[in-house]
Amino acid sequence: MSASAATVQTTADVLSGAHANDEREALARGLAAKHAGDDALEILRAAIKDEFPDRIALVSSFGAESAVLLHLVSEVDKSLPVIFLETEKHFAQTLSYRKKLANRLGLTDVRDIRPSKEALTFRDPSGDLWKHDADACCTLRKVEPLTGALDEFGAWITGRKQFHGGGRLNLPAFEASPTHIKVNPLARWSKADIDAYVEAHDLPAHPLVAQGYPSIGCWPCTHPAAGDDVRAGRWRGAAKTECGIHGR
Ligand code: SF4
Repeated sequence: MSASAATVQTTADVLSGAHANDEREALARGLAAKHAGDDALEILRAAIKDEFPDRIALVSSFGAESAVLLHLVSEVDKSLPVIFLETEKHFAQTLSYRKKLANRLGLTDVRDIRPSKEALTFRDPSGDLWKHDADACCTLRKVEPLTGALDEFGAWITGRKQFHGGGRLNLPAFEASPTHIKVNPLARWSKADIDAYVEAHDLPAHPLVAQGYPSIGCWPCTHPAAGDDVRAGRWRGAAKTECGIHGR
């Protein structure tokens, strides 16, 4: 092996867990630069086929904007693992939409990830932890199950976008978390881009959108909302704006 070959660090090396966070940060920056001119489909193709083959999953809420990314992924690989956090607090409409959309797009590996029965019994026996401590409820029902589900992957795909505002204003297409690379193919998309894609591909809407829900999560923490803020209606009346799986 040549000296240069011995020092070359591959994507697989960085994802092996043997390297420090700053190396994962450097990998994310390098991927963002390498794919700076790519559109969403090209970013997905590169991430799924070239950068992280067999080591990447999509995490989807099957919410108001989810159909676009699910459709794009189905264009690249219908067997890509799709993780749905089944918090047991979803609207019935979300669960039926999740089935309808997966069938329509031919997705073959949608995984319903749940908190363990033991954890629910011990930490939320009456099922109303969300009333008293929403952060603890999200940790129990979302963050911890997702952490376990992502163990086998080195990267995951998210549907976050810069126009969501707040900490997402500068969202890059590739970013590093303490444990994974996160791929955000729609980071630069606008609401108009989303709407145009939905119309062009005749994608079904989440049934609650027509009832005034701009963003859809668990029923106790989601309300109808008017105005331009697509994240409005989540954790109404609380400072909380994010469930904890992203940090922004
Ligand atoms: S969104 Fe609400 S109900 Fe769902 S996990 Fe978080 S606090 Fe619990």
